[in-house]
Amino acid sequence: MSNRCPKCGQLAVTRTSKWVSVLAKEATCQCTNAYCSCSFVVVTEAIRIINPGVWPNPLTELPERNRANRNGPLPGQGALDLA
Ligand SMILES: [Zn+2]
Repeated sequence: MSNRCPKCGQLAVTRTSKWVSVLAKEATCQCTNAYCSCSFVVVTEAIRIINPGVWPNPLTELPERNRANRNGPLPGQGALDLA
């Protein structure tokens, strides 16, 4: 997975990464623009299940979307009430 530099928008390379939880991985990235050279940290995290697979894991309980409502809000994440 590639990332973009938050300062200049150029591609960045991953220098190091580590799992910080069962669902999240943290990576240190460096911009490939020699005039920028920004270093930053990104987090990649599983946020919902699309297909639950065959092996349940109680440590990775995530919201699931049903196929009929694939593009709708997740349970408990309805539209914002701004009134
Ligand atoms: Zn940059």
